[in-house]
Amino acid sequence: MYTDLNGKVAVITGGSKGIGKAIAKRFGQEKMAVVVNYNSDSKGAQEAAEQVIANGGQAVTVQADVATEAGNQLLLQTALDHFGTLDIWVNNAGMEIQAPTHELTLEAWNKVVTIDQTGVFLGAKTALAYFKAQHKKGNIINMSSVHEQIPWPTFASYAAAKGGVKLLTQTIAMEYAKDGIRVNAIGPGAINTPINAEKFADQAQYDQTVSMVPMNRIGTPEEVAAGAAWLASEESSYVTGITLFIDGGMTLYPAFKDGQG
Ligand code: NAD
Repeated sequence: MYTDLNGKVAVITGGSKGIGKAIAKRFGQEKMAVVVNYNSDSKGAQEAAEQVIANGGQAVTVQADVATEAGNQLLLQTALDHFGTLDIWVNNAGMEIQAPTHELTLEAWNKVVTIDQTGVFLGAKTALAYFKAQHKKGNIINMSSVHEQIPWPTFASYAAAKGGVKLLTQTIAMEYAKDGIRVNAIGPGAINTPINAEKFADQAQYDQTVSMVPMNRIGTPEEVAAGAAWLASEESSYVTGITLFIDGGMTLYPAFKDGQG
């Protein structure tokens, strides 16, 4: 636990399931006040809020589409109305669409990039404007992926969006470092969440994914949430502009793990 997080106010986008929900729970354990955003799954968001409260934090749920400026403004306003301030903004919401690139429709490309990359820009912009106006040393955490670094055939829109999130994170980190605002990303590897449910239900695909992880297992949402808590806390006070990979070693070129090459 990080005592400096006690009472801090956070927005978490896409908090109704998976990694966002686990971050909400962890922030509850840190006794924080959390705005749990959801797009369509109000029940999941309510469960996340209940977990925050059960662990000693405060929580409110709010429906908003992160791909819109109005949605992000609503999240900020909700934090201010309910908890009086904003300290930490976690751009977690994301989705993916698989298709061979020569068959990927413009509509599908736009959907992924608008949520996974533009949504991160809009969330960061909203938080930065508030932090600047209040002279606040705020903290932004962007959920990237190992695919900001590892190419991912048939997921071109996702890899392009996450690659963009990497440089967006680094650029904003540099731009606002003088204001004491820290901006970092997290790059999860293969994590057991609903985004992977279909793939991991197939034993062959599950085994194949595990074989790409030097630690030989899939990660948990709680392991990603632990990284988010550290980045949010003052324990990481000299850290900005990084991507913290939480991936069991997936970014270490596991094809070489037995000395091939
Ligand atoms: P998930 O599908 O379980 O959760 C994604 C969340 O984003 C959901 O709550 C969904 O409702 C929300 N969301 C989607 N579009 C939205 C919108 N327009 N507005 C608001 N919310 C929206 O997936 P997850 O695995 O928990 O993924 C969370 C983040 O972690 C994503 O950015 C994803 O790309 C990233 N990530 C996940 C993995 C993994 O293996 N699970 C690996 C690398 C990166």
